[in-house]
Amino acid sequence: MFSRILVANRGEIALRIIRACRELGIETVAVFSKADENARYLRHADDRVCIGPPPSEQSYLNIPSIISAAEITDVEAIHPGYGFLSESSHFAEICESSNITFIGPSSKAMQLMGNKSQARKVAIENKIPVIPGSASTIANQQEALDIAHKIGYPVLIKAAAGGGGRGMRIAHNDASLVNALAVAQREAEAAFKDSSIYIEKYIERARHVEVQILADQYGNMMHLGERDCSLQRRHQKLLEETPSPGITPQLRGELYKAALKIAKAVNYTNVGTVEFLVDENGKFYFIEMNTRLQVEHPITEMVTGIDLVKEQIKIAAGEPLKYRQKHVRFDGVAIECRIYAEDPDNGFRPHPGRISTYHVPGGKGVRVDSHVHQGYEIPPFYDSLISKLIVHQATRQESIACLKRALEEYVIEGVKTTLPLHMKLLNHTNFLNGNFTTTFVEGLMEREQ
Ligand code: ADP
Ligand code: ADP
Ligand code: MG
Repeated sequence: MFSRILVANRGEIALRIIRACRELGIETVAVFSKADENARYLRHADDRVCIGPPPSEQSYLNIPSIISAAEITDVEAIHPGYGFLSESSHFAEICESSNITFIGPSSKAMQLMGNKSQARKVAIENKIPVIPGSASTIANQQEALDIAHKIGYPVLIKAAAGGGGRGMRIAHNDASLVNALAVAQREAEAAFKDSSIYIEKYIERARHVEVQILADQYGNMMHLGERDCSLQRRHQKLLEETPSPGITPQLRGELYKAALKIAKAVNYTNVGTVEFLVDENGKFYFIEMNTRLQVEHPITEMVTGIDLVKEQIKIAAGEPLKYRQKHVRFDGVAIECRIYAEDPDNGFRPHPGRISTYHVPGGKGVRVDSHVHQGYEIPPFYDSLISKLIVHQATRQESIACLKRALEEYVIEGVKTTLPLHMKLLNHTNFLNGNFTTTFVEGLMEREQ
């Protein structure tokens, strides 16, 4: 086992990893940008290194700076968290060549699944259904038009290097396709330094259902159930639950099978998530694989009792899994609300600033994963996630009741947050009936205006 790990991330996920390490008896080195230098969560690490100025390109994405911090502090491994460098096979390779273990899958598996257009090819080769679309990335405008005519509008233009819901544009006709193409390419270049894009048929009325994979380095692979993440804004998740209230046991089994098949095809190790869309006829399609820990991993932890971050570390250290698929038990229902500092009534615009009052909920079945506190200043440079409120109860109905009373207890003042929106969602009949698709949240906001 490692004795010291560097955490190459910030905010709630940095603290989540530091906590797991502490419980495992592993020392941690936290890195931080100038914007985070006063963040209290850094105190929980054993050592701290400043890696640059606020912009992420110069700090949390600055590979030379992070590697030199790792060398100076003599760590054996780096945990990348999610976002930032977590899906960079280039970073994983540099770690490998610097004799530092990258806590994640092999750089080879990351290369195969990291590019979303390439991952589609892997899915097709393995006879996993994908959404009708381009065979590869799009070379020019004419090719885009040809594909759109073949599959029919509406189509979705997607960044091959995309993530976090960015670099996606819907087009309903030729004119909007030409325009959307340019916008999506620019957005992808700015966000991912890679302007390559591909096209899929836009599936209306879909659910997002994803399968958690866990695998060690000795060929032991299993799934840890699914998560329904259909409640989104800007193609990014807001509320997730497990099990999915919208699929049949038969479909559930098929999703597990498909996810394991694709993960096996790339000799996947560590934790990863295979994402699918399910259309209104119950037909499912692979959309992408996230070769990292997912934001919503806690709900899987609650129902399985498995600590995914500790497993990641043990697997990376070369330990075999101590259990098999048949030992995994799924217990009850867990739901997560992502509390962002943003203004739902103003196009979900980020709302950084100082948290003037902060009171966290507690009690049975409530878990809050967060790095913030009263007086915390949310920097404007990064993702505006404040906190993840997670509940776990025996039934969906009890989980919803628990979540409602936890939201009532939760006080965050000084910045606009998604708290009121979550409460609205929890009171909506369609949510209560489990009857919703990926456009539900935005549709609700539009209807209210
Ligand atoms: P998840 O897929 O775990 O549900 P999100 O899509 O919400 O998580 O992304 C979590 C964070 O990671 C966000 O800050 C998002 O911008 C960032 N992120 C996700 N994918 C990428 C990527 N490919 N490149 C850069 N940042 C990413
Ligand atoms: P990211 O890499 O940003 O996470 P994904 O490919 O996982 O992007 O898609 C994110 C979300 O965008 C999905 O959960 C879904 O709501 C929507 N989406 C993606 N592809 C399609 C599609 N072909 N049709 C309809 N919605 C889609
Ligand atoms: Mg995704």
